[in-house]
Amino acid sequence: MTRKVFWEDPYLTTHETTVTTVRGQEVTVASTILYALSGGQESDAGTLAGHPVLEARKEGLEIVYTLPEGHGLAPGMEVSMAIDWPRRRRLMHLHFAAELVLETLYRTLPGVVKAGAHIGPAKARIDLAWPESVSPWLPRLAAEVQALIDADRAITSVFEDEAAERRVWEIPGFARVPCGGTHPRRTGELGRIRLKRDNPGGGKQRIEIYLDQELPCR
Ligand SMILES: [Zn+2]
Repeated sequence: MTRKVFWEDPYLTTHETTVTTVRGQEVTVASTILYALSGGQESDAGTLAGHPVLEARKEGLEIVYTLPEGHGLAPGMEVSMAIDWPRRRRLMHLHFAAELVLETLYRTLPGVVKAGAHIGPAKARIDLAWPESVSPWLPRLAAEVQALIDADRAITSVFEDEAAERRVWEIPGFARVPCGGTHPRRTGELGRIRLKRDNPGGGKQRIEIYLDQELPCR
C-alpha cells in the first residue's frame, strides 16, 4: 500500500519513490505526495518519472496513477515525483476554508445538512439541504471564519485509525473533524475569505467560497 506522504508533510513538492506495480498505463508507487480525488478535493496535477499523471484515483487504500502510453516504467525502478504546487496550495486552502465554513455553519444553523461539496482551484462550494435562503447568515458566517483565520490558529492532522487510514484534523477548542484531505498547519495561511450565495434549485442552498490574499506557506 502506498505511503501517503501528503499527509505527513502536505508542503512537499517533490519526492523520490519506487515503482511497485505496473499494469499497462496504470502504475503504483511505494510512497506518494500526489493526492487522489477524495472528499470533494480534486486530485493534484503532477509528474511521475517526468511523465504527466493523467489520472490519480483511489482503489481501496491504494492510489493508482495513469501515465501516457510508452512510459517504460517497471516495478523496482526508482523515480521522482513532482506536484503542481500552486494548484495544491489553492486546493488545500480552499478545502480547509470549506471545512471552517461548514463547522461554523453547524453552530450557526443547527440542523443544517451538507448535501454536497466540490473543491477546485478557483473556488470551493458547499451545498446544503436548507429550506430558506442562507443570505442573511453569510455576513456573520464570514466574520466568524475570518476571525479564526486572523487568529492564526494551529491545525493538527493525525491518524484516528492508522490501519484503516482514517484521519482527523483538530483546532483545539473549535472542532475535531474526520477528514482524509490535505490541511495547512495554520489558519492564517488562508488570507481573506469571501462567501457568495447561489441557488442551485431542488431545495438546496449553495455557498461559494473564495480566498483572496493567501499567505505564502513555504
Ligand atoms: Zn479536510
